[in-house]
Amino acid sequence: MKLNVFFLLLLILNIGYANEDSTFVKKIYNEALVKGEAYNNLRVLCKDIGARLTGSAEAAMAIEWAENLLESYAFDNVYLQEIKVPHWERGTKEAGWIINAEQKISKLDMLALGGSVGTGGLIEGEVIKVESIEELNQLSDQEVDGKIVFFNRPFDQKMINMFKAYGACVDQRWAGTSEASKKNAKAVVIRSLASNTDGHPHTGSMHYEDGVIQIPGAAISPNDADDLVEWLTKGKVTLRMEMDCKTFADVTSYNVIAEFKGSEDDKIITIGAHLDSWDVGEGAHDDGAGVVQCIEAFRILKKLGYRPNHTLRCVLFMNEENGNFGGKSYAEIAVENSEEHICAIETDRGGFLPMGFDVVGSDEQLEFIREITGDLKPYDLLKFNHGYGGVDIGPLRQYFPTMIQLGLNVNSQAYFDFHHSAADVFETVHQRELALGAAAMGAMLYLMDRNL
Ligand SMILES: [Zn+2]
Repeated sequence: MKLNVFFLLLLILNIGYANEDSTFVKKIYNEALVKGEAYNNLRVLCKDIGARLTGSAEAAMAIEWAENLLESYAFDNVYLQEIKVPHWERGTKEAGWIINAEQKISKLDMLALGGSVGTGGLIEGEVIKVESIEELNQLSDQEVDGKIVFFNRPFDQKMINMFKAYGACVDQRWAGTSEASKKNAKAVVIRSLASNTDGHPHTGSMHYEDGVIQIPGAAISPNDADDLVEWLTKGKVTLRMEMDCKTFADVTSYNVIAEFKGSEDDKIITIGAHLDSWDVGEGAHDDGAGVVQCIEAFRILKKLGYRPNHTLRCVLFMNEENGNFGGKSYAEIAVENSEEHICAIETDRGGFLPMGFDVVGSDEQLEFIREITGDLKPYDLLKFNHGYGGVDIGPLRQYFPTMIQLGLNVNSQAYFDFHHSAADVFETVHQRELALGAAAMGAMLYLMDRNL
């Protein structure tokens, strides 16, 4: 009998604890949806500062903006973490034309790939189309010599998750230029990594292998890629292009950090997004949305008077797009300072409708996440599976292999219409979807702090 009473008491206490959680999660959502500040903060970041490539004046202004905003919310601690970052500039001239067998000319919508060398004036070469690096490698060196290689593999439309479709194509952008250079190609153009057919070229990072001659790489819009394919079926096509992008010496930059001090210990839970963006559009979905969601999650916990058990950190990383020196440095500095990191949560998939969180961790850790997130079901956060955390928080796991990492999972259908292109502007972000993502980040941060 006594034992039964004991268990009854335990049950009541448990229910009380659970009710407290569901009530608090409700408060987080109410604040985000009714009095949210994320949308207006995103408007300021996108419209008053705009695109903010690492090393640019706009990136420096975004750092200033973020630090001031975080300070205005009076968190326990706001500071800049100094890091070294690469500095690449697109330059002014960026143009391409195709000329078909009948000498008809068509101008291309083209963007240099991030990190590419310039062309050193106007260059010209016959176009040779391949669908993959494997197909390129099956060609003889003579077939490629002096030509401009066109990588044309599009997204697989049969895929449901657009991040997977992107992942299946991204090697063309990242490695295609070096692979073509090994066969003495003059330059590379790729079909933009986009889910739809549109007129925007989509840039993104590429890298040069050591010891390989550095040739220019550019992306053309899906529409132009379709035209080029069409013209190639009718005969020889020549491509002319000119770009004066270049890489400068590394510069000093900063991750921007805000903290809530833990009341029980100094173990750290990080939420993060990246403050830098590509230099076209406004970096609204990538990753302005994530930046304002992290700030909003922190603002709401502060406003609701929450005192965390562990130390909570909001980290706005620099340089995710072309080097990830923000993420790498954050992890290295954590080790230097003998910090203990137990969890990191990233939002970097656009300000779209949230669906759950990807979990990086063991089967037991995934089970634990599923157990503690019952209170998120009423908010349609239903997907909790093994998956991907994020680029910025990724390096932490090298040093803290048992930590849990979470990536906000969103509806991925529209993201690659905007990603790394001039179309990624504030107007394409939906206010409620953005706010729901901020609330999801706040609620997840709260639940991890309570349960870890
Ligand atoms: Zn991003």
